[in-house]
Amino acid sequence: MSTAYLKPASLEDAYTARAEHPDYVLLAGGTDYMVGILHRPAPVGVIDLFGLSALTGIEAGEGVLRIGAAATYAVVLTDATVSESFPSLRTCVSEIGATQIQARGTLGGNIGTSSPVGDTLPVLLALDAILELGSSRGTRKVAYAEFCTGYRQTLLKEDEVIVAIELPLPSPGVQFWRKVGTRKAQAISKVMVAASARGSGETLTDVRLAMGAVADRPIRLGAVEALLEGQVPSLELAEQVRAAVADAITPISDLRSTAPYRLRSAQNLAARFVLQRVEAQA
Ligand SMILES: Cc1cc2nc3c(=O)[nH]c(=O)nc-3n(C[C@H](O)[C@H](O)[C@H](O)COP(=O)(O)OP(=O)(O)OC[C@H]3O[C@@H](n4cnc5c(N)ncnc54)[C@H](O)[C@@H]3O)c2cc1C
Repeated sequence: MSTAYLKPASLEDAYTARAEHPDYVLLAGGTDYMVGILHRPAPVGVIDLFGLSALTGIEAGEGVLRIGAAATYAVVLTDATVSESFPSLRTCVSEIGATQIQARGTLGGNIGTSSPVGDTLPVLLALDAILELGSSRGTRKVAYAEFCTGYRQTLLKEDEVIVAIELPLPSPGVQFWRKVGTRKAQAISKVMVAASARGSGETLTDVRLAMGAVADRPIRLGAVEALLEGQVPSLELAEQVRAAVADAITPISDLRSTAPYRLRSAQNLAARFVLQRVEAQA
């Protein structure tokens, strides 16, 4: 049986195709979906969103930066507002795969796959991202913090498309991103930490601290955020953060890493967020 192929010319066409063919696969860059193509039956059909202009723009608007879900990482990397206002996202994206993957891979695809090791996902949590989801029934907005409901489970309905990712402006003045992998490029992360804070002077406020690869989904560490809230970064605070991270997560061992290594890395990265602020103030 051959696979049907649809290439919608507009977002409305994409919605119609999705409503009429819930059994077709939505495809953006294909850098996740195509990896396993030889190990499962061919899909009944494909709805190809790659390059659909309604999904590829990046626009700074009133209080928000709106990134089209099918904007490639290469495009995200060239956007001035991303560079100026969201350095944590920019750094994260610059470390995804390598040039070829960045030319095809999209934020919408990372969110759609919803892997616990999707690199951008903790960043979206730390930046309070909002997703715009659309279908023939209309559009709705969902906080990314609520979107992922379990291991590769999301709130996306079978007739919906991820349309855009909105990042609130002004952005947090303090942002942090670090991942640990076997090597610098083309390595799936063992642990990732993204963080942000607002506040004036040295005190951290509105702290967000998120991790990937330490649970069945990307998570925020509320207890660690509460510990950091209103504090001035110090060496003592960094040590307290290490202890609080150990209480907050229970990583697993798998083919990519061991539970103790993941825990130690997560503690070190979270402490580094604090230590970087200490160094910045010195
Ligand atoms: C060699 C290699 C290296 C990689 N390195 C990294 C890395 O360092 N970090 C990392 O996080 N990932 C990495 N990946 C995984 C992949 O590149 C990313 O997850 C990428 O963001 C996927 O985007 P895509 O557009 O290619 O998604 P696709 O493969 O096209 O789609 C992925 C899933 O998302 C769904 N989807 C796509 N777009 C939408 C939409 N608009 N609305 C609803 N659902 C949608 C699809 O239906 C599918 O289920 C790597 C992959 C490869 C092959």
